[in-house]
Amino acid sequence: MKKRYIAKHTSMRFGLILTMAAVSAVIFCASVLFHETAKPTKNTAAVQKIAAKAEPIPVPTAATVKKPSAALQQFAKYFSTTPENLYEQKLTVRSGDTLIALLQSQNVATEDAHVAVKALKDVWDPKNLKLDQEIYVIKSSLSETTTEEADAIEGIYFRPDPETDVLVYREDDSFTAEKLGRTLQKTFAYGGSVIDLSLFEAGDDAGVPMGVMIKMIRAFSYDVDFQRDLKNGDKFEIVYEKYIDDKGDAARTGNILYASLLLSGKERRIYGYENQEGEQAFYDRNGMSIKKALLKTPVDNVRMSSGFGMRFHPILGYSKMHKGVDFAASIGTPIHAAGNGIIAEVGPNGAYGNYIKIRHNSEFATAYAHLNAFRKGIKEGVRVKQGEVIGYVGTTGRSTGPHLHYEVLVKGEQVNPSSLKLPTAEQLVGKELVAFKNRLSQIEMKLIAMRRPANAQVAQRAVAVQRAN
Ligand SMILES: [Zn+2]
Repeated sequence: MKKRYIAKHTSMRFGLILTMAAVSAVIFCASVLFHETAKPTKNTAAVQKIAAKAEPIPVPTAATVKKPSAALQQFAKYFSTTPENLYEQKLTVRSGDTLIALLQSQNVATEDAHVAVKALKDVWDPKNLKLDQEIYVIKSSLSETTTEEADAIEGIYFRPDPETDVLVYREDDSFTAEKLGRTLQKTFAYGGSVIDLSLFEAGDDAGVPMGVMIKMIRAFSYDVDFQRDLKNGDKFEIVYEKYIDDKGDAARTGNILYASLLLSGKERRIYGYENQEGEQAFYDRNGMSIKKALLKTPVDNVRMSSGFGMRFHPILGYSKMHKGVDFAASIGTPIHAAGNGIIAEVGPNGAYGNYIKIRHNSEFATAYAHLNAFRKGIKEGVRVKQGEVIGYVGTTGRSTGPHLHYEVLVKGEQVNPSSLKLPTAEQLVGKELVAFKNRLSQIEMKLIAMRRPANAQVAQRAVAVQRAN
């Protein structure tokens, strides 16, 4: 059974000549709307091909859902008919797509596509369309072929971010758009694992999202030398916020409440806390900020902890003969300023190759050698912030392979960075320290409760493995 939709506002019956006109309209729309896309060439080529052969618009390829989805049922009240009488088509945004072109690829009437997208612009900018974004098109009828008649649409909806739904629906001859907030519930998630190959792999094993692992690695970068301190058999543990929707599906992650690294038997624990300035920061058990004047790993520590570059070069530590620390990394890996300071030297420097020295205060300086390149704008006298990219790993000067040679200088003399005692930036005091300690005991109770089911799972798996053998 096929239903035909008779458009109220305009005749949609397409003869052969009108098909040609429609194709021209597609070309027109496509060219007008190209400013909304990153790479429009793919579409242009496709549209020109259609025009040259005077072929119909491609047949819809997306799956057509007749059974109303949960979203369709949720939005049913906005449509003039019951969900059972509506068709739902799922589209996925590909490189170069515009929303109008996408709708037209699904045989949506040109005018409907334009009016709906115009209405959408009141609440959401179609320029923000992202790759792989899913868009649902709702129709009250569906043509079996695309040569005769374009479909009128009842509406479109999509979820541009986990907390927002955008809905466009027909009202007589026009469309209305609405942005609907989704309420998410905050829950807590636990993850922990033994580190074998890399910290990322351990995170993956424990089901901790990559973004959370990256945040954790950055938090530990003041204290951990990610090239030398991480060994097979070390452990990590983490508790973080997870936001779920009304169906219990994870929508996004939030702050880290707690993280620990057990490195060569020594445990480092950090606690997330929102301080009086409203900043989410990490502290140790005593309420001491974990931020230090210098980073211990001045190379992109995220790449470092993914096991990247380990095979390039002997990983040298500090000694009488070698008055610096080497970080093996592939050419081009970003190098970060270890602390706030002023560029004191930049340029080629003999055996050091391309070299940067940063003066942090009257006492401390850091130096970076064998660089492939300096970041644009890094010149003598320029002020840099801790963590800012200053250059890129290379193998210039006397060097056996791509690595960063890193030195910490105290009053002009190289010192061993790992034996350096640096003052922390901030210590919570008074009422704030009391509030932090309360928070800390809440987190630890949560941690104990969350460890239990995780341990039970591990135990179950062990039993299952034993049985299998
Ligand atoms: Zn070196």
